[in-house]
Amino acid sequence: MLIEIAELELHPIDFQEEFLPDAIDLGADVRQTSVLKTSGRAQLVEEHHGKHKVIKDIRLQGDLATTLEVSCARCLEAVTQNVARAFDLLYRPQGTDAGKEEISITAADAEIGYYKGDGLLLEDMLREQVLLSLPLKAICREDCKGLCPHCGKNLNMEQCSCTEPMEDPRWAALKEIRNKLDN
Ligand SMILES: [Zn+2]
Ligand SMILES: [Zn+2]
Repeated sequence: MLIEIAELELHPIDFQEEFLPDAIDLGADVRQTSVLKTSGRAQLVEEHHGKHKVIKDIRLQGDLATTLEVSCARCLEAVTQNVARAFDLLYRPQGTDAGKEEISITAADAEIGYYKGDGLLLEDMLREQVLLSLPLKAICREDCKGLCPHCGKNLNMEQCSCTEPMEDPRWAALKEIRNKLDN
């Protein structure tokens, strides 16, 4: 759904949409397992710069909900994440902030984005918001034992026969250096 500036100039747009799994490309590591529902309102916000320059921003307010499946960061098993979040975002025309110090705004303030051309694709906003709602590292449970670094078995399912816990390779490398220095 394209939210068009031309239409926003006439009136705000209320939206209520449902997206089936795979309708929005979330990348290879995230699977949408239920319908994504979103509703809200888009409106035009005009920034007046001087007498003649008007910058047309799009303000998007609303909420979204869906269910996602990602891999556990330790054991790689599927983890289900329910996502429900409200948003209040401002999209400025792309290039508005180019070359100014405001360009760093994206990192500090995720509430501001940019749109290209005639308007903003709702799907683009949703992709961004859905991915932002995921934890950096999802784990299937607090005490997930992960995979054995020797044989790759899922230690939540079975105990493998590798008895010695594997040394962190970084420490092993340090130890090697120290041995060389000692000799
Ligand atoms: Zn796990
Ligand atoms: Zn093992």
